[in-house]
Amino acid sequence: MGPPGALNHFGSGIAGLSAALGAARNGASVTLATKATQPEGASTWWAQGGIAVARTAPEQFKEDIAVASSGTSDPEALDVLVQNADAAVRDVLIETLGVDFDTGGNGASFDFGREAAHSEDRILHVDASTGRHIHEPFLNHLAGHDRVEICGDTAAIELLEHDERVHGAVLESDGTVQPHYAGATILATGGIGALYSRSTNPGGSTGDGIAMAHRAGAATADMEFVQFHPTVCVADGDPFLVSEAVRGEGAVLRAAEGERFMPAVHEDAELAPRDVVARAVEQEHHRTGRVVLDVSSFDFAGIFPDLAAMCAEHGVDPSTGIPVVPAEHFLCGGVDVDTHGRTSLDRLYAVGECARTGVHGANRLASTSLLEGLVWGLRAGTDAAGHEPTEREGAVSTSPGSAPSEEFLQDSYERLQRTMDEHVGLRRTPEGLRDALSALRALKINVDAYAGLGAPRAVHPVVATDDLRTCP
Ligand SMILES: Cc1cc2nc3c(=O)[nH]c(=O)nc-3n(C[C@H](O)[C@H](O)[C@H](O)COP(=O)(O)OP(=O)(O)OC[C@H]3O[C@@H](n4cnc5c(N)ncnc54)[C@H](O)[C@@H]3O)c2cc1C
Repeated sequence: MGPPGALNHFGSGIAGLSAALGAARNGASVTLATKATQPEGASTWWAQGGIAVARTAPEQFKEDIAVASSGTSDPEALDVLVQNADAAVRDVLIETLGVDFDTGGNGASFDFGREAAHSEDRILHVDASTGRHIHEPFLNHLAGHDRVEICGDTAAIELLEHDERVHGAVLESDGTVQPHYAGATILATGGIGALYSRSTNPGGSTGDGIAMAHRAGAATADMEFVQFHPTVCVADGDPFLVSEAVRGEGAVLRAAEGERFMPAVHEDAELAPRDVVARAVEQEHHRTGRVVLDVSSFDFAGIFPDLAAMCAEHGVDPSTGIPVVPAEHFLCGGVDVDTHGRTSLDRLYAVGECARTGVHGANRLASTSLLEGLVWGLRAGTDAAGHEPTEREGAVSTSPGSAPSEEFLQDSYERLQRTMDEHVGLRRTPEGLRDALSALRALKINVDAYAGLGAPRAVHPVVATDDLRTCP
């Protein structure tokens, strides 16, 4: 039957890695399948500004998150996030992984940064490329862990659900499709940015975990709460994010004629919550044709060498202002979970950006997503570790999985992105959403028909007796 407490984890961003660590520390054996072929396939790798901690003012931290969400965040989820923040960061990131967060000089104390809508300096960072400095040591740590097996280039495509319990998933690797059973399954598949033509997320952010959970019958929530980052540079068509930390340092937004517009929009001007800044940037871009981030008031290259290098790579001269537009950045909603990442289906967990914990409500405060993935990942992994695969009568069926042509897929994908851009972007109307719904329904019928989803389904036993812990 395989080792007790064998778990399936899907996704190798901070949430999936934290869940794997939490589970392995509690004695479980973990198969971590990720469709990424390299670390850059996870949003985690791209995170810039950093990870927020509570320091000595937890109530103020909660208050800032709640205010940024316009009072829509869930107080219980906020308590869990903030009460566990500092201990999780210290334990995992500093003591286990040895992440070398920037210090204020002489190695004395951390150089806590501040970003938009934070009322305190509380963000740990490594330059403006914090994500990769967390992600790479985390991957290396787990790659050497004797209870964790990482299967790269392996995608989960469908959950094995029977009687509202999830027994594993169907995995695809190198053209081979096969069921993979587990005592519990943790989805950590990240966001949905790639459903839009303009996003900060890597191309694999296609919402797979949310789609699989929904198809298996799990509840989702707050899917309408999509965050658009206000300052994304698309000068050469390849978007890159210009972190809020740059505005925290004093950069200002200017419209085409050089005029500042944020002071008239919000009392915190450029440091107003993301949704406020994003809408203003879009409006000014629409009105004047161009918005730039003016970084001339400080030593941009000295303080943000990584961003300066990125500008150079994309042919942008920061001394003339960095051209910016809003772009899809983060999904606040997702698979509905409790404070341990448990979904509405037995033995199915969801963590990180694919989950809706309630922390962010309708709008996320900067630098709280890595923290949410870390805290919920550890909690879900720990909770799931006790589950052993159980024998049950019955069978689960999955779709036959015939592959449509590349041309059909590309065409369908472009139609999907066009619909999302046009009707489900920063500004929406009831009529536009109705149009989007019809367009997406028509697209789904087409894709289902082409992919043979109506055809007879493959049938698998509820639990197989082969080894539960090997990559397919
Ligand atoms: C440019 C950028 C800057 C950011 N800056 C910050 C910041 O400074 N601070 C902050 O807190 N947040 C930041 N964020 C947000 C934050 O990085 C993400 O929300 C967070 O990293 C999400 O972590 P995750 O583990 O949920 O998902 P991800 O890190 O996106 O990982 C998802 C993983 O799932 C895998 N996957 C997807 N589908 C499947 C499938 N079907 N089967 C198997 N594997 C699958 C992917 O390959 C990937 O490995 C930033 C995001 C971006 C894009």
